[in-house]
Amino acid sequence: MKELLRDNIANLVPYSCARNDFKGEASVYLDANENWQEFVKGEGRNRYPDPLCTALRKKIELVMGLGFEHTVIGNGSDEIIDNLIRMFCTPRKDKVLLMPPTYGAYRVFCDINDVKVVAVPLTAEFGIDFPSLKEYLAKEKSNRDEGSCKLLFICSPNNPSGNAFSLPEIQEVASLFEGITVIDEAYFDFNRYPSAVTLLEKNPNMVVLRTLSKSWALANARIGILVASLELCQVMRSMKYPYNISGPAQELAIQDLDDISAVRKGTAEILKERPVMASALKTVACVKKVYPSDANFFLVKVSDANALYQYLKGKGIIVRNRTKELNCENCLRITIGSALENKTLLQALKEWDNE
Ligand SMILES: *Cc1c(COP(=O)(O)O)cnc(C)c1O
Repeated sequence: MKELLRDNIANLVPYSCARNDFKGEASVYLDANENWQEFVKGEGRNRYPDPLCTALRKKIELVMGLGFEHTVIGNGSDEIIDNLIRMFCTPRKDKVLLMPPTYGAYRVFCDINDVKVVAVPLTAEFGIDFPSLKEYLAKEKSNRDEGSCKLLFICSPNNPSGNAFSLPEIQEVASLFEGITVIDEAYFDFNRYPSAVTLLEKNPNMVVLRTLSKSWALANARIGILVASLELCQVMRSMKYPYNISGPAQELAIQDLDDISAVRKGTAEILKERPVMASALKTVACVKKVYPSDANFFLVKVSDANALYQYLKGKGIIVRNRTKELNCENCLRITIGSALENKTLLQALKEWDNE
């Protein structure tokens, strides 16, 4: 991993914030220029939060089985994605490999960081195109002076297509790729395949992303989780914003993780609704195809995505129009909602059929 880091990150002398400098219990804290006055008593609003999310990471180990020393918490997965790009990619030199159609944030963060994107598209049925991947990586290897491919993102289950990749497929990509392979498991709890976390030990240059934004129903708190080698976690801790997760967000996440039975029940409910919704969507005339989903949404091909999107919007129903994404012509991405929301959507689709 060390050889893949950007020089400025490999040589970084990290900022040492007050909360990192002193660890332990004391009775008088005069080290962080905080205000001793607490205008709303008892909540610690006047104090800086724990930069390492210690209590939250212990809870994550206990509940999610992700080892304490192997996690870093980000302000959503988005912060972790951005940090990975900044850790490894020298702007205008190094590259990131994406397999579109996929999560749009990867490309945006590359653009913001002025890092080139190489696309090896998924097949028309959204599988990994191994022949093209091998061809590209072989070409890359023989042409190193143009900067190298440092990161490869696999989103599994993939947004917006909804399908997941099996562990052997993910392992094969990681074996072919000499940079850091990132597995984004934002929708892991809806997936039929086991987690790529089990592959980390054998693959020190693989990292896995999780989030509390989807199955844990905590999008508002902005909690993303990096699972990676001790070494890589240490580097990310040294370069992230020191106080990247607010105290209230850490608290909310701990509360959420304390009630795992509610979350399990909620996930089971969505999983039960998924085939019901798929069958119902297939009975609608304007629906041409419902792609198989391992997530809490469907990619749905319709007769005219732009017109249908506008029609639904007029009825106060907002879906995601993905028609401009590669191989997603006339596709809408539809989240599985509550029973009432799903019914409202299906009714509107049937009305559209009859117009
Ligand atoms: C929703 C989503 C995330 C979650 O992002 P957060 O910043 O953690 O809310 C990450 N990756 C993918 C592919 C997603 O669809």
